[in-house]
Amino acid sequence: MLQLFMPLNFMGMVYREIRQGLTDIERMMEVLDQNPEVADREGAGLLKVDGGTIRFEHVGFSYDPERQILNDVSFEVPAGKMVAIVGPSGAGKSTISRLLLRFYDVTSGRITIDGQDIRDVTQASLRAAMGVVPQDTVLFNDTIFYNIKYGRHDATDDEVFAAAKMAQIDDFVKTLPDGYDTMVGERGLKLSGGEKQRVAIARTILKAPPILILDEATSALDSHTEREIQDALDRVSKDRTAVVIAHRLSTIIHADNILVLDAGRVVEQGTHAELVTRRGLYAGLWARQRQAEKAREELAHALEEA
Ligand code: ADP
Ligand code: MG
Repeated sequence: MLQLFMPLNFMGMVYREIRQGLTDIERMMEVLDQNPEVADREGAGLLKVDGGTIRFEHVGFSYDPERQILNDVSFEVPAGKMVAIVGPSGAGKSTISRLLLRFYDVTSGRITIDGQDIRDVTQASLRAAMGVVPQDTVLFNDTIFYNIKYGRHDATDDEVFAAAKMAQIDDFVKTLPDGYDTMVGERGLKLSGGEKQRVAIARTILKAPPILILDEATSALDSHTEREIQDALDRVSKDRTAVVIAHRLSTIIHADNILVLDAGRVVEQGTHAELVTRRGLYAGLWARQRQAEKAREELAHALEEA
């Protein structure tokens, strides 16, 4: 499970840690708006999105001056394409998504969206252009309907239901006695990880942002659920600019470009086919994951026979 550990420096005095998934992005923004590290520039304009091309240009970043986290990271996500980021834990993958959302400012280089430096536009307009599907969704203590509609408050009921269908959660909701009026969240019905994630996907489908940031689940979802979620994610990312942080490589083999990040540097990039033949870090990760999957299948098979 990816959890965000985001220390905020309130008044430069109090160091606090907020532990939260990327889920309630808007709610988290309320907190982050108090983060003096990142403020709207005076006279900042609105981000004008035209396709949503993302560019990282020689980006360097450190959370504290002692330790450089990202080094000279450059890449482009062309409008409507999908770029996956893979690499060992601690490589800086999540940091890239935090910089894109401008939770922090780059230390050097720049990030642009359709040619606009993200430091020159309002944070509100930047985040309005992005949808985040997190690994670990926290739902509001409200109905399923509300939780989906949260993606776009002026959506019609039919649009909410259509988004739910697309996210493959509609069939499940209909089995509940109260259907879409079922209360969920901590004080309501507990949904499984996969169900919650599909609610978050439905919310994002409804929001229909030009840019998507997907953080894939690492948790051992059963393969049927994983396939359903993958289908839903594929639908929502179609024709949108997407940055996918991938843990299971099998889910990103169709990405237009794959960045392999190691210790804050892009050490390889290319398509899946190109990277497996290169016999580098990616090929190694791929071989290991394939082996693990095979072992799991054999175990499941053995258990069936027993
Ligand atoms: P990944 O997502 O690839 O596992 P992260 O981007 O989360 O890696 O982290 C990259 C490095 O930055 C790690 O060494 C991590 O310990 C460090 N780091 C992450 N968040 C913070 C933070 N808020 N303050 C200081 N260091 C951090
Ligand atoms: Mg991470």
